[in-house]
Amino acid sequence: MRSRRSLKSQAFTGHQIGMLLAVKAHTVVVGGGVMGTSIAMQLANRLDPLANPIVLVERASHLAAGSSGRSGAILRMQYADLEVARMARNSLTDYSSFLTRTGRDIGFRKTGVLTLAGARAPEWIPRVRECVEMLRADGVKTELVGAAEIRELFPGIAVAEDVIGAWEPDSGFVDPVATVEAFAAIARTRGAITRLGVEVTEIVMDGERAMGVETNEGRIDAEHVVVVAGPWTHALLGDAGIEAPLRVVRPEQHFIAMPSTGAGGREESRGDSLAFDDLNATGELDPLARLENETERRRSALKVAHPVIIDLELGFYSRCVPERESTRVGRIEYDSAAVLEDPDQLDEEVSEEMKRWSREVLAGRMPVYGDLPDVASEAALYTLTPDAQPLLGSIAGMQGLFVASGFSGHGFKLAPAVGEGMSQLILGDPITAFDADFFSPARFAGRTPQWGGNFGL
Ligand SMILES: Cc1cc2nc3c(=O)[nH]c(=O)nc-3n(C[C@H](O)[C@H](O)[C@H](O)COP(=O)(O)OP(=O)(O)OC[C@H]3O[C@@H](n4cnc5c(N)ncnc54)[C@H](O)[C@@H]3O)c2cc1C
Repeated sequence: MRSRRSLKSQAFTGHQIGMLLAVKAHTVVVGGGVMGTSIAMQLANRLDPLANPIVLVERASHLAAGSSGRSGAILRMQYADLEVARMARNSLTDYSSFLTRTGRDIGFRKTGVLTLAGARAPEWIPRVRECVEMLRADGVKTELVGAAEIRELFPGIAVAEDVIGAWEPDSGFVDPVATVEAFAAIARTRGAITRLGVEVTEIVMDGERAMGVETNEGRIDAEHVVVVAGPWTHALLGDAGIEAPLRVVRPEQHFIAMPSTGAGGREESRGDSLAFDDLNATGELDPLARLENETERRRSALKVAHPVIIDLELGFYSRCVPERESTRVGRIEYDSAAVLEDPDQLDEEVSEEMKRWSREVLAGRMPVYGDLPDVASEAALYTLTPDAQPLLGSIAGMQGLFVASGFSGHGFKLAPAVGEGMSQLILGDPITAFDADFFSPARFAGRTPQWGGNFGL
């Protein structure tokens, strides 16, 4: 008899997939972005996929084809809503230990994240102070820094004497595509099926019960359907008669060459380059620790010039993209009224105004960027809710139907907690990974939603 382990880790042939899909799936996950793959990974972790198949379907020919693939994937914890900050903190722990736990490199960089507030947008100053105080009381690693400390952390930065910052030393970013692929790979090794190039055309309902999905390759029967289709979620649910409070807007990003010598920035550190825990009882380096050390050595050849900046005073965020030798710049605020009705009609052309503005704000804060060349620019999609917090949970009155969408431009950092919490919800376990009431998809029911959530903190 074959062990469960060997069956779980083998690759499925097309015939076996067909056999499995002839049986009812436990859960169909619609969408192969960071949320879909995180949920699939967590479900596969908790279930025996032979008895309870998990099937993820992605309409594109590759994973991370939506917002996830163009994400900044910045991991920070500075949020005024404790519910969000806690998810970000727990997810940061997952991301930062991912390589050691799984042996897979998702490009985690502990660069530190600096959130700045100053006199040109003074309303942020008390909010940053309060936020730091609240988060510290909750055990989040962040501290308030003044202009002198900011200059020390970040030589070459231009800050007036009255600028303050919230400094998160352990935060940073991951590589978004590597992360999605790693989540999916782990889901697959645990027995989940990921199908690329399969588009869900309809959620199949029997009255108020989800029965599965119709796809361009046939029907998949399932006990649970989770819609994590990012910008396409609104239309997919709409076709099933569900009006979700979701809108899509089009943020633009600009990339300027990263200074090779650094903006005078600090050296990124792993903190504990070789921790005592890395050594086994005989004093030898644990194989995973060795892998991590080697990966770290290779990665540190790709220097980052400076920490991530969330600049509330000038209205931009920025992070180095070492593998593209560039630095990404985007706006913190966006106009929730400039709705893109059809996400497939994304205009890829980035405006000259955005390129000019990006250089102006980045060089305004770090003068070294004044003379560096443009590298690239791209447009992308955010899926918004009225309060800029995601819809996470079951759809009221629709048994077996779940949604995780509307991350409003800050979801990547939350994906591990979203995956864990959604899998708890689907399996009927107590939900410990997020506050189910705070994120309930039903929270806008019975009232006209006021659009305009808070995007900065
Ligand atoms: C430019 C940009 C910068 C960002 N920066 C950050 C950041 O720094 N930090 C942070 O935390 N967050 C950031 N975000 C937000 C974060 O990236 C998103 O919240 C997150 O990626 C959303 O993931 P998702 O899986 O919900 O959606 P998506 O990644 O959009 O995935 C949805 C998937 O569903 C598929 N799909 C759609 N319809 C169907 C269908 N009918 N059948 C099958 N498949 C379907 C799509 O092809 C797509 O692959 C940023 C987002 C953008 C766009």
